[in-house]
Amino acid sequence: MEILLARESGFCFGVRRAVKIAYEAKEKWGQVYTYGELIHNRQFVDKLEKDGIKAVNSPDEIPSGAVVIIRSHGISPQEEKILKSRFKVIDATCPYVKKSQKIAAKEVRSGKELVIFGDQTHPEIKGILGYTQGAGMVISNPEDTPNLPYSLRRATISQTTNDLEEYKKFVGGLLENTERLTVHQTICSSTLEKHRSARKIAAEVELMLVIGGKHSSNTRKLYRACKKIQPNTYHIETPEELDLIEWRKYERIGLSAGASTPDFIIKAVMEKLKEEGND
Ligand code: SF4
Repeated sequence: MEILLARESGFCFGVRRAVKIAYEAKEKWGQVYTYGELIHNRQFVDKLEKDGIKAVNSPDEIPSGAVVIIRSHGISPQEEKILKSRFKVIDATCPYVKKSQKIAAKEVRSGKELVIFGDQTHPEIKGILGYTQGAGMVISNPEDTPNLPYSLRRATISQTTNDLEEYKKFVGGLLENTERLTVHQTICSSTLEKHRSARKIAAEVELMLVIGGKHSSNTRKLYRACKKIQPNTYHIETPEELDLIEWRKYERIGLSAGASTPDFIIKAVMEKLKEEGND
């Protein structure tokens, strides 16, 4: 059996950076807190907590004056202000997300209607909306853009982890009802490369496995992108879930993993495939 791992798999630049910042802070100050889970992966969040890096969902869960880390998704300026008034804040927002926040604020200030392609329940998008003073509109489905009312001046950005093909469709819909449209390419290069390399592998194998948390939005998008190329694609979170798939009958299996999937899980899946595939 041949196992092909997509070149860009697992932790992205922004997640690696945030994890590094968190461990450095822990070294320096002892127990630290992350505002929200540092990454959407249960196994890794448990490991971080054991190592003294605890995820909290509200400032009220953090002792006064403690060290709080803003994760790679970023937060709204309003939330940041509250945190800074009560704690020592370390900002690990990914630079790509920062770029989107700045663009959103600038376009709204210049009087354009801002349409964001993304999931409005996702922390990255909630944070970006905070920079638009309530003037940003979020749309998650490219099919919905042609139905928007006509606008003279619009700008658009995408969530950093969206699929480029989907964003092109989204923009195409906006062109139908916008006189002057400013398009910002805000999908990060890590996502672009991850999708590109996963698609390439998906086209070459009989079975494609996308590894990552079931709640990880970027893993779900990666899974959907691969499924379009290879219908025999599965999203798994742990090596144990391989038991639910009839993978032994295939000669070529492809693997990719979301931006929040730790290396140890990718490795464990590969080992299980290798060991049991040769039984
Ligand atoms: S997916 Fe991209 S934007 Fe998001 S944290 Fe990773 S590198 Fe940054």
